[in-house]
Amino acid sequence: MREASRAARLARKRVGLVPTMGALHEGHLSLVRAARAACDVVAASIFVNPTQFGPTEDLAKYPRSFERDCKLLAREGVEFVFAPSVEEMYPETTATTWVTVEDLSGKLDGASRPGHFRGVATVVSKLFHIVEPDAAFFGQKDAAQVAVIRRMVRDLNLPVEIVVCPIVREADGLAMSSRNAYLDAEQRKRALVLHRALLRVEELSRAGGTNAARLIAAGRAEFEREPSVRLDYFEIVDPDGLDPVADASGALVAVAAYVGTTRLIDNLLLSETSHHRGH
Ligand code: AMP
Repeated sequence: MREASRAARLARKRVGLVPTMGALHEGHLSLVRAARAACDVVAASIFVNPTQFGPTEDLAKYPRSFERDCKLLAREGVEFVFAPSVEEMYPETTATTWVTVEDLSGKLDGASRPGHFRGVATVVSKLFHIVEPDAAFFGQKDAAQVAVIRRMVRDLNLPVEIVVCPIVREADGLAMSSRNAYLDAEQRKRALVLHRALLRVEELSRAGGTNAARLIAAGRAEFEREPSVRLDYFEIVDPDGLDPVADASGALVAVAAYVGTTRLIDNLLLSETSHHRGH
């Protein structure tokens, strides 16, 4: 992988990397298309990274569809699929080097998934060192992951441009996710509460609401009407530092919830208000 990528860069080609865990859907393919449009050579990685799963999480049952993924990637004109084995990525059971983005890694998903962002930052920095891409493409779907990776790249002076692509949704608004495959028909309907709550917040924000506490209350109220879905967090935070804000303009509305045992996430970036109403 490194040889191929280096050869491309020596030939003055711009190399784009799309890191994924496979089980590809239109969300992933939107990243591939963005990379295809901005780069001369595109590599997609498929690696279900064990170090970002907690001991009670879904690593063993995580959906895998390697042959199908390769066909989809070939159809998009991807030059390289990098699909290392776990042994290749983590050959030493004694490996003790981790990349930890302190502080950010304990927020949002990091608060409910201890060690998750350490696993993400470590594997993404390994992928960056293997592929040495000029640009790497990530989805806004994982908003906290975007904040962690941006911070890692800045703090460690990694020579890679981070490109973030919008959330791709199903026709009814559910954010596409490989984990949606876990949902039965009934759960699939109930899962819409995540998007509904975000839309409610967006509606209030468009009507001039900037008070984060009130917007959060309105979003959470949607979950109270869907008690079978267990809310993990519903927060309005600064998209870079992931700290709660009082004024929601330009902020990130982020939600995570369990539908049955399936943990789903979604989010929305509120637009900046050019002036404050009222006082
Ligand atoms: P994953 O395979 O879940 O690790 O996701 C790989 C990349 O695809 C990450 O950068 C995700 O943020 C992105 N991604 C996943 N779902 C979506 C979606 N619905 N819309 C946009 N990007 C997505």
